[in-house]
Amino acid sequence: MRKLIIERDVEEKILNIQTTHSFKKEIGGILVGTYDAEIRGMRLTDISYPFKGDKQSRFHFYRKSDGHQELMDQLWEKSNHTKAYLGEWHTHDQKVPIPSKTDCDTWKRITKNNNNFDESYFMIIGRTEFIIWATSGSDIVEVYRGNSNGKK
Ligand SMILES: [Zn+2]
Repeated sequence: MRKLIIERDVEEKILNIQTTHSFKKEIGGILVGTYDAEIRGMRLTDISYPFKGDKQSRFHFYRKSDGHQELMDQLWEKSNHTKAYLGEWHTHDQKVPIPSKTDCDTWKRITKNNNNFDESYFMIIGRTEFIIWATSGSDIVEVYRGNSNGKK
């Protein structure tokens, strides 16, 4: 699996979600990034927030809105076609998030249809930790783990 680094700006957004989100309902969006030849790895540069029209419930997040696609299109254009869709993120009402069977099935399905890079990436933000998994074929491997430094 490739090395993944998270831009500071994105990390701040994640920490902000951890401190402000109630976790009563799941929220989520897309992960956007680029391949960084210097580090020979992926750079997570942007995440989208829920848009009006997305469906949120206690245990599920359905990304319905066209807003995510529109944001992706804008980032693609603005970055001279280097930023692309990496995958998805959502929250879990758990300190340390554990993907559900549904999550794993969904990730495998998305990975099959995502041809931007060799791997797709999925993040779950829990109350204290956030974890990113890389997927390739039907393999799911943890590649990044961060925490809110005891802020919560
Ligand atoms: Zn989940």
